[in-house]
Amino acid sequence: MAQRIGLYPGTFDPVTLGHMDIIRRGAKLVDRLVIGVTTNPSKSPMFTLDERLAMVERECAGIDDAEIEVRAFDTLLIDYARQVGASIILRGLRAVADFEYEYQMAGMNQYLDSSIETVFLMADVSLQPIASRLVKEIAQLGGDISKFVPPQVREDMLARIAPKSV
Ligand code: ADP
Repeated sequence: MAQRIGLYPGTFDPVTLGHMDIIRRGAKLVDRLVIGVTTNPSKSPMFTLDERLAMVERECAGIDDAEIEVRAFDTLLIDYARQVGASIILRGLRAVADFEYEYQMAGMNQYLDSSIETVFLMADVSLQPIASRLVKEIAQLGGDISKFVPPQVREDMLARIAPKSV
């Protein structure tokens, strides 16, 4: 039987416990999960593409429900989904905030290729409010981010924002 391949795209700057929950749930639905990390320079990321790739790779190391592959991409999402042979685009959906954007994106992608299905997953309720942007703000202002990101990612963030002694 053909392998079911899913694509989970995002910026992952940095990967949060919300993302990790979606990845774990998604891995149960497919044989191979490609995590597509976008370059997204417009968001002026805290971590470079290579750093984000390495972080996601490291955090996914223990997941064995599906074969996980972490890859960079900067092309049209639907083209990239076709390129990796994905029949599913996986997205996480948080309460109302994500709905409008995700609804439009899934609709447009349906026009572009109706054979690729967008599947929305909900993270555990306790992880719903987590957003990379807010985690970065909290970290920069000295707040505790240990409930939002994996321990090693927290270390990476603290190292990144530590005042540089010149
Ligand atoms: P984007 O670059 O579109 O803002 P992100 O890289 O932050 O997306 O996240 C990628 C995907 O993960 C999106 O579908 C987003 O909705 C989802 N996501 C992020 N954080 C959470 C969370 N706490 N719970 C559920 N889904 C989430």
